[in-house]
Amino acid sequence: MIEVRSLTKSFGALEVLRGIDLNLDKGHVLVIIGPSGSGKTTLLRCMNALEMPSSGSIVIGKARLSFEPGLKPRRSDVLALRKQSGMVFQSYHLFPHMTAVQNVMEGQITVKKRPKEEARAKAMALLAKVGLGDKGEAYPHQLSGGQQQRVGIARAMSIDPELLLFDEPTSALDPELVRDVLKVIRQLAAEGRTMMIVTHEMKFAREVADRIILMDEGAIIEEGPPEQLFNKPQQERTRQFLSMLE
Ligand code: ATP
Repeated sequence: MIEVRSLTKSFGALEVLRGIDLNLDKGHVLVIIGPSGSGKTTLLRCMNALEMPSSGSIVIGKARLSFEPGLKPRRSDVLALRKQSGMVFQSYHLFPHMTAVQNVMEGQITVKKRPKEEARAKAMALLAKVGLGDKGEAYPHQLSGGQQQRVGIARAMSIDPELLLFDEPTSALDPELVRDVLKVIRQLAAEGRTMMIVTHEMKFAREVADRIILMDEGAIIEEGPPEQLFNKPQQERTRQFLSMLE
């Protein structure tokens, strides 16, 4: 169970999140759409405290963290939250000096304190799962963008997080590489993984989401199942956003 309450985030005078409330049930996929600069990435980064929210609270499984202006949350609480969520970044963020398998082992060893051989076996299994069983010894520069992103997905899953976070996972990819990455994410959705996905791929959003939220100017404008949001939007702002995409 994921719960976000009254979450705000400001960068100096700029209020980027203005009181976000959301719930997400285990096994569900929440897709976040909205215009550029609406705060989608910031919300995702707040979910695992890569960005510290200014106020509000986040619950992910057993981890709960509250934020208050001027108060730094306890380091142990931040780490507990990070253990519950695995992030997949737009530009992969793999360690360039490590092979694919080492990239997928790293978090298991540092965060989960798994023995090396156990971490290696799990990394190999996850790479096979994302279709890269033969690329374990390749370095990131020897892999295509789509392959690097699939290593990124294997890495996010390696710590067995309660929640997977995807920040525009295909937007840095050439169109022909997008398909393989979306296929992996679809497969994870079918397996019942709990996920929050920021994407500009509306066709994919419609297909994979249990619920969609539309954000604008740091707030949730509308929320609902994909058929409702795309076919019968309730808010004028949603209609405007969707019509700009056509
Ligand atoms: P896009 O679809 O273009 O990726 P987004 O909806 O993900 O946009 P964010 O990246 O969350 O939007 O950015 C929201 C606002 O916060 C923007 O105005 C951005 O310039 C600002 N912002 C984001 N990160 C920082 C930062 N570290 N410092 C200052 N301002 C920031």
